[in-house]
This record gives sequence, structure tokens and C-alpha cells, in this order.
Amino acid sequence: MSPNDTLDRQAQQELKDYEEKLRQELGLEDDNAEQWRKPVERPLLRQSRETTTILFGGLTTAHDELIRDTIQGLGYKVEPLPCPDNVALGIGKEFGNRGQCNPTYYTVGNLVKYCQNLREQGMSVEEIKEQYVFLTAGACGPCRFGMYEAEFRKALKDAGFEGFRVLLFEQEKGISQASGDEAAEEGGIDFTKDFYMGLIKAIMVGDLINDLGYQIRPYEINSGQTNEAIKQAKLIAGDCLRAGEKVEEALLKIRDLFGAVRCDFTRVKPKVKITGEFWAMTTEGDGNYRMGEWLESEGAQVLTEPVSTWVDYLLYIGKHDIMKTYGLPDSDGKVSRFKSLKSYALVAALKLYFRRRYDKYRKILGMKPMILPDQGKIHKLAQSYYNIDLRGGEGHMEVGKNIYAVLEKKAHMVISVKPFGCMPSTQSDGVQSKVVNDYPDCIFIPIETSGDGEVNIKSRVQMKLYEAKVRCREEFARVLEGYGFSLEQFRDYVKSQPEYASSLAEQPHHEVGVAANMIHKVAKAMKRHYSLRVDPKMSIEEVESLARRQAEAEGAVCVNVDEPETAATAQSDECGEDGCPTCTDSLPGEQKHRSIDQTAAAAR
Ligand code: SF4
Repeated sequence: MSPNDTLDRQAQQELKDYEEKLRQELGLEDDNAEQWRKPVERPLLRQSRETTTILFGGLTTAHDELIRDTIQGLGYKVEPLPCPDNVALGIGKEFGNRGQCNPTYYTVGNLVKYCQNLREQGMSVEEIKEQYVFLTAGACGPCRFGMYEAEFRKALKDAGFEGFRVLLFEQEKGISQASGDEAAEEGGIDFTKDFYMGLIKAIMVGDLINDLGYQIRPYEINSGQTNEAIKQAKLIAGDCLRAGEKVEEALLKIRDLFGAVRCDFTRVKPKVKITGEFWAMTTEGDGNYRMGEWLESEGAQVLTEPVSTWVDYLLYIGKHDIMKTYGLPDSDGKVSRFKSLKSYALVAALKLYFRRRYDKYRKILGMKPMILPDQGKIHKLAQSYYNIDLRGGEGHMEVGKNIYAVLEKKAHMVISVKPFGCMPSTQSDGVQSKVVNDYPDCIFIPIETSGDGEVNIKSRVQMKLYEAKVRCREEFARVLEGYGFSLEQFRDYVKSQPEYASSLAEQPHHEVGVAANMIHKVAKAMKRHYSLRVDPKMSIEEVESLARRQAEAEGAVCVNVDEPETAATAQSDECGEDGCPTCTDSLPGEQKHRSIDQTAAAAR
């Protein structure tokens, strides 16, 4: 026996002894484990539909509100939970199991917090259990998403709400009640065609409104106009969905609302795409440190992923899975190629229908909202890095979307939001370092959201954002000089064309940044040709110098980062050819509202 074998035996024995000791301490000496069975809950019955409120949540505010309006229109009492915050995270950690991922804690804690608030307002626990149910998404799978349902039940039980009903919306099966499925089919929720169509419309309209908001807000001339348009748009769409009408009419009104916002698209702003784990990138609260809102305040244009991309992805992998198992026996041991082909045709038709409808709505909105990414292309781009059969989280999509953003000139920078404790994100994190090596143009930063450490995370993002700003300035300067325009000529021409200030004005897509693309548009109108005289890569110093001259000409407000007490003081007159001693990264036309210190203070 080798020394290693002896050591191994010793270790095994020690492990066994320790296990026995723990078993004794916990009273688990009896080894007769019993099969765990899901508890059977009271079903939601049809007769209690009018007295029972269905709670749900987890998407953006626009989606949650529109889904509420849709389902209310079908005759249900329904209410979205508020956006989860750090208090919900604390409650989730208190009542949840150890070692869960962050979205579990936020969403579980959010529901418990809601119930606790109801109790504090004077409702008894019995009344809460009688008058409320919770509807959530679920799935089986390799990540903790498959455990959400059990976590909700455990936390509710430990918080004193044992028996609170949790209904499950399963991604693969459609909707069924997590317990007592048969009862649910005849029960409180009719999962009819109207129900599904209403949900799809609400999700699409929510995506489109959010998309317009993020594309227009950074360029609006009158601050607050876009947010007002979003507010009105949600009311118009909500009324239409509640009435069960077609949304085309409402979208035309929404188009007029957004079209009335006047914009200055000559502002040079880096585009930052937020990607990552589905919940973490979608939420608008503490779950991702309010990343979208904060990035805008830092001078970026944000690109978020529509929820519709997720639906499109599910349909794509549905097709892939059917083809992969084609000709193999099913769970009954039978091989039915016809059945497989039928299923494939059905999913393919659904996918086509879904994308076409999304495009139809985009068209009504002047094609301003972005097209859904091509899943086939994303798969192709990701396949040499991440196997499509590795499921959980965003799967291969996260890697594919990063490469897609670089190759299709979608964004200057990509932020991947990874919740603390997320297994699939940890996998793709490892893969992304290879992607960044292979695509040197990619400015990529993964951030782990844990609910705390906000200052550190934002400080890291600011550093990368600076790189993206330099890239954006470089692109702008290159195109400007390529056409032989001065900044004044370019801006004067844009000002002289009132239609260019329309938020829905068509823009070409040759570069990443909006302002750089605008130069192409102006050049086309003025019949100018691009000259290749210019070295396409200016040095950073040249770009900085150009940008500072532009900033100086426009009186951009600089921020003194060395002296926090004077941080917000305008010092534009100090900007010179060699750079301003205090201004660090102002862009032409940009007003930076906060220094790093102020950001840190705000986060505290
Ligand atoms: S993808 Fe990650 S964060 Fe999301 S549920 Fe799965 S383990 Fe949790």
C-alpha cells in the first residue's frame, strides 16, 4: 500500500467519524430516508377569483404594469409586487436557505416583505392566505431557478405564512399550478388563448416602450420629456390591453408621443449594453445597483435586452432540442419521427409568428426600437466558446451577445451583470476572458451583484466607461475628419434641419455611436464623400485634445475630482489645449453631474 493510499484511508475514516458525530448531534442516526413529496396546497378556485389577488413581479416596471392591466382586463384581481430592494434582500437571506443566488433572495424576500406589510397593516395571516396567491416563473434545470418554488414556500413558512399559495408558470410546460395541477385546470385561472396573447402583447409593448426610452432620453433637449412620454405611453397601452383591443392603434398614439420629444443627436455618448443573468439585467432596482439609470447619469446611452429576446431564445432552443432528439425513443420507448416533425413545425411557426409580430410593432413605431437579435447568429458566434446544450441562466446567449455587440457595432462596451452565487454566470465568466482575448475591440466588464459593495462596483465600471468614452470620441473624431467637416459645420447643419431633431428620425448604422452615425447622414445630405486621408486610429492624446477643444467651445462643465468639496463647480474656462488640470473626462456637450466621491457618497 502506497503512502498516498494510507493517507486516503485515514481521510475517509476521519470523514466518516465526523459524519457520525454530526448525525448524533442533529438526531439523524436513523438512516431510513423517505422520499420527499411536494406538499399539496389548496388550489385557487374559480369561485374565489373575485376575492383573491394574484401577485406577481420580477420584470421592469413597464412590463409589470402592462401585464397587470392585461390580466385585470380578463377579469382577475391582480397586483405586481414593488421592485425588490435591499430590504427584500435582507429578508430573503433571513428566511431563505444558505447559499442561494442573489435573485432568489431578492424575489423571495420581496414576497415575504409584501406579506409582512399586509400583516402590519392589520390583516390576519389567515386573511392574507385566503385573499392572495403568488404567480411566478419556474423551470427545472441545472441552476437554482428550479428551486425557486421550494424557496418561496420555505421562506413563507418560516416567516409565519405557511400555506400561502405559490402558483408556478413553467417555461417548458406552459402554466400549471405547482401543486394540485388537475384542480388548477378547472380552477381560478383560465389559461386560454386570450390569456397568452394578452401576455405576449404586454411583454412586447413593455419592451418597445423601454427601448424607446433608453434610446431617446440621453439626447432629449428638454429634460424629463422622455419620462413623461413613457408615463403617458404606459397609460395608453394599459387602457388598450385592459379592453382587450388590438394594440396597433395605441402604438400609433405612442409613436406620436415619443415623436414629439426633441433631441440633439450630435451629443457624443458611448453606447453601453447591459447583459448577463436574466433577472439581474432586467430589474430596475437594487438588484443591479440601478445600473441603467446610473450609467445614463454618467453620460452613457444604455442598451437593455428586451424580455422578448428571452422568449425568442426559448423557442430557438426548443427547436434545437427537437432536432437533437429526432429519431430517438421518447419516454415511452417509442420512436415517432412524425411527432417530432410536427412539434418542430409548431415551434418554428410560433417563433416566426413571434418575431413577425415584434417587427410589425417596431414598424408602427418608425423602426426606432431595435430588432431582436438573430438567435442563429448568436448561436454560431458562441458555439466555439460555449456549448448550446449547457443550460441554465442565459446559456450560450451571454457569450454570443458580447461578440454580437462587437461585430455588429452595437455597443462600445458590454457590462455583464452576474448575481452573487450564480452558477451559470460563473461558467460564462471564465469563457468571456477568452472572448476578450480573441476580440481586442471588445470592452467588457463582468460585475458581481451582491447587494453590497456598490461603491467598488461603480468605481470599476467608471474606469471601463472611461475607455468606452475614449473609443467613442475616437470614432466621432475619425468620421468627422474623414468627411472634412468641422464640428461647427456639422452642428450648424443639423440645427438647420428641424426634422433631424425628431426623436424618431431615421439614422444610418455605419458606426456604433449615434453622433458618428449622424455625421454619415449629414454627409449624405450634403453629398460629401468620405476620404481615407485620415489615419483611422488617432492617438489617444490627439483624440483627447480634439475632444477638449470641443468641450471648451461648448462650455462643458468639468468636475474637480481631487477636491471633493469643489467637485460640482463649473471650471470650463480652465480647459486648454493641453488638457484641463481638473477636468478628467468631459465629452463635448456633456455635463458630468457627479464625481467618483459624490457617486460613492450617493451610494452610501
Ligand atoms: S441563472 Fe444564476 S442567478 Fe439566475 S436563477 Fe440560475 S443560478 Fe440563480
